[in-house]
Amino acid sequence: MPTDPDDGRLIARAGEHICCSNGHPNFRLLAEARAGALIRSSELEAVNGMSVPVPKTDIQPCVVCGAAQYRIGPTGRVQFNIDGEWRGDGVFLDERTH
Ligand SMILES: [Zn+2]
Repeated sequence: MPTDPDDGRLIARAGEHICCSNGHPNFRLLAEARAGALIRSSELEAVNGMSVPVPKTDIQPCVVCGAAQYRIGPTGRVQFNIDGEWRGDGVFLDERTH
């Protein structure tokens, strides 16, 4: 896993949502998320008709609009749309190697 000076920074609290790039809330976080750290499937509750991601598989697109659940940010690391705000350079979802 890459390291970055930003690693460890809190980027989402439990209860916040991972949204698709169009802002549909698709996963509720059951634990806090920190930059550079893994978000495990067991720490996600699927909402909005989604399924919890299966480790080592691609994340299901938004069932409402088909948009992606993450983007590659300006620094080349993964960001998630947390309740309408792109956060988290370097968050890893389960065992994916973004
Ligand atoms: Zn959507």
